[in-house]
Amino acid sequence: WKNALPSLRGVMAAARTHGAADFVVYGEERVSFDAFHRAVAALMAALVARGVGKGDRVALAMRNLPEWPAVFMAVTALGAIIVPLNAWWTGEELAFALEDSGTKLLIADVDRWNRIAPHAEGLPLKSVIVSRGSAEGAERLEDLIGAPTSWVSLPDAELPAAEIDSDDPAGIFYTSGTTGRPKGALGTHRNLATNIMTSAWSGAQTARRRGEGLPEAKRRVILLAVPLFHATAYSATLMGTLAGGSCLVLLHKWDTIEAMRLIEKERVSMTGGVPFIAWQLIEHPDRHKYDLSSLEAVSYGGAPSAPELVSAIWQTFGALPGNGWGMTETSATVTHHMAEDYLNRPSSCGPAAPVASLEIRAEDGVTVLPPNTVGELWANGPMIVAGYWNRPEATAQTFVNGWVRTGDLAKVDDEGFCTIVDRAKDVIIRGGENIYSIEVENVLYEHPAVTDAALVGIPHRTLGEEPAAVVYLAPGAEATEEELRAFVAARLAGFKVPVRIAFSTQTLPRNANGKILKGELKAMLAEM
Ligand code: ATP
Ligand code: MG
Repeated sequence: WKNALPSLRGVMAAARTHGAADFVVYGEERVSFDAFHRAVAALMAALVARGVGKGDRVALAMRNLPEWPAVFMAVTALGAIIVPLNAWWTGEELAFALEDSGTKLLIADVDRWNRIAPHAEGLPLKSVIVSRGSAEGAERLEDLIGAPTSWVSLPDAELPAAEIDSDDPAGIFYTSGTTGRPKGALGTHRNLATNIMTSAWSGAQTARRRGEGLPEAKRRVILLAVPLFHATAYSATLMGTLAGGSCLVLLHKWDTIEAMRLIEKERVSMTGGVPFIAWQLIEHPDRHKYDLSSLEAVSYGGAPSAPELVSAIWQTFGALPGNGWGMTETSATVTHHMAEDYLNRPSSCGPAAPVASLEIRAEDGVTVLPPNTVGELWANGPMIVAGYWNRPEATAQTFVNGWVRTGDLAKVDDEGFCTIVDRAKDVIIRGGENIYSIEVENVLYEHPAVTDAALVGIPHRTLGEEPAAVVYLAPGAEATEEELRAFVAARLAGFKVPVRIAFSTQTLPRNANGKILKGELKAMLAEM
């Protein structure tokens, strides 16, 4: 009767009840919930034998593989602290996080370890376990728990004992680094387990619209289109899947053709992750060659999305579009919306989840602003992390009396629907006038030739900054700078019209989490 909820041991207990159903599918490898539980128990025993205990940091550096969630759950269910690393990072960046987190044990795929090894000297690292290969001086994960296809024959064991409190740290989760060096957000067991409630709520939104009755009535198959180290994945999706019994189909990395092939083969009911991925599916020239009719929902968050996307998803797939807002500091989802609500309010990212609160505050960080007024978004709820690892100053600035100061500018309407208007750091101030980049980008997206657009500020001697845009046109489409400027001028006030529009020969540079790297675009514009 004692599942220790809310903690990740409770999540594992819930996962075990789903038995022989598929939990994770990766190529030809299929792992049931039962096999997964066996692997986690075996790995926990191996970690205990290697001296890993409460509060120890264990880093995880891998592409999307079935081992990823096994390591994540084994480490956290032991009371140790998981440190998922961004698989896109360079050797230096990976080494920085290992140093910053004081990690003693690293579990990595061979490619990641080869990247880190040249930088390993001087790191606190004591031992390394590699997966999918071998490396000198490292143990092999397969030798400890076998390959995923053999997990089913491991002994059916209880998880080794561990005392865990809901407010104990479960992980150090690095932010995406969009606005500076990544910061380690210290997520607790309660923070992560809160996703079970949030994903049940957002799942029910889809079910209601489709007249299915209870969402549990049908097993969902989710194509995970984003990296597992992203908050959307390890937090919202992974926790929801383990507790709710859905199936997670993994992609080693994003590949539109492979994604469409998997949607058809596995009868995927839900995908998304970030808006960019939804566009890639919608705009792919070979889309009609695949049967994508199983898709019921395409849901995303983590980056601004054009209102166009909402009707595009509905019309292309007959699937429900969904949007959620969150950040690493909020262990993923805080707002979510879907179905009719979203189709009717395509600029909004929805209302606060049942366990969260939102406030729009003035710059002083204290005054709460009335509805429909733009200000800084603050959020509160059991998903807000305990602070930043090792950064007392940044923690004091960002986490105040249980609230997190998000750095996003937003407004909330009378009914509680939230709309993000920009990141505070991306707002362009032209001679005292605020220009929200998302507003101008959304107008550019409305132009049929434009598939990717970003607005950035360029320096101006007297005005301070002026808006400039970089766009990427759909293959074969044509538009001139004059035409696009006129298109914006017909829809927005004159001071918001980009003074320059540059054409990129490829989609705009993004980080691993699908966010446009505006710093790179500014540098690019300066050189042009
Ligand atoms: P860093 O904090 O290191 O600069 P980051 O803020 O990009 O990086 P994340 O925690 O991954 O790191 O992203 C959170 C941010 O993503 C939010 O603050 C917001 O700006 C943006 N975001 C998330 N969801 C949405 C959404 N649905 N619509 C618009 N923007 C979103
Ligand atoms: Mg941030």
